[in-house]
Amino acid sequence: MLSELKELFIEVFQLVFGYFYHLDKRINIFYLLTSVLLTLFVFYKRKKSQPKPSKNFFQYLFKKENYWSKTAFVDYAFLFFNGFVKITIIASFSYWSRHFQFNITESLLENWGYKPTSLSIPTLSVLYTIALLLIGDFSYYILHWLYHKLPFLWAFHKVHHSSTALNPVTQYRIHPIELIINNLRFAIVITLLNGVFDFLSNGYFGPQTYLGVNVILITFNTLGANLRHSHVKLTYFNWLENWFISPYQHQIHHSSQKELYDKNLGSKLAIWDSLFGTLVKSKDVSKLEVGLGEKTPHYNNFLKNLINPFKALFNSKY
Ligand SMILES: [Zn+2]
Ligand SMILES: [Zn+2]
Repeated sequence: MLSELKELFIEVFQLVFGYFYHLDKRINIFYLLTSVLLTLFVFYKRKKSQPKPSKNFFQYLFKKENYWSKTAFVDYAFLFFNGFVKITIIASFSYWSRHFQFNITESLLENWGYKPTSLSIPTLSVLYTIALLLIGDFSYYILHWLYHKLPFLWAFHKVHHSSTALNPVTQYRIHPIELIINNLRFAIVITLLNGVFDFLSNGYFGPQTYLGVNVILITFNTLGANLRHSHVKLTYFNWLENWFISPYQHQIHHSSQKELYDKNLGSKLAIWDSLFGTLVKSKDVSKLEVGLGEKTPHYNNFLKNLINPFKALFNSKY
């Protein structure tokens, strides 16, 4: 029993430290470095127009409140705690995904027979990557909208919004229940897409990858995805923010004001927010305070974040 527990701990540590060198993880060292370069750009651009504050770049980059504070330690605790959830619960999803993917492909083959398309494998790979971006992003938007609109889901999603100073690890500050639901969403999307594309290509398709990682994910992460959870105000051109969510637009989503935290619900694409009227652009918000605000002070440590959503559920107090 004790040795099994020790093995589990080692597995969790390996998983978490792997985030820093796996290319499909946002906090990979390479993406962190490109984020530092983008921060340098924002810092000097900001300094020109605004000579104050007089802090040097490193003080600006590693703002104490964002990396060494009570709220930051809640993020780090969730990073490790969710490692256990991933290994003990979520790891089994890929088995079930492969199982259902096989069933989907088989039933399509039974109904339509072999060779239903004359599209080449490279064309199918490009189509797959685009379909994954559109369907993946749209399903994320719908689920995120539900997290904000349904009180019992909001109780769990509040954990992500309870950070009062963002840093790249805040992306892991997610309640385990939300983490499981998010992974279920992703597993359903991948299972359906893989099942259909496996059928279309007779089992030969593959996403557009570089070193085994989706090219869209690499591009998104290289262009400062880490700054979405940070104090660095990286905005895009105003017109571009209609198409892609900029890091600052996600920071607006973390605002303590309700009229702002129910906005910018998309992940990579801004088109869903545009379509459904939930888009706010950077130029419209000059000052920002993140967190849940004064009204919800009871999400300020790791245990409270972990337990309070269940309490809220039990008492129907959200
Ligand atoms: Zn949210
Ligand atoms: Zn966030």
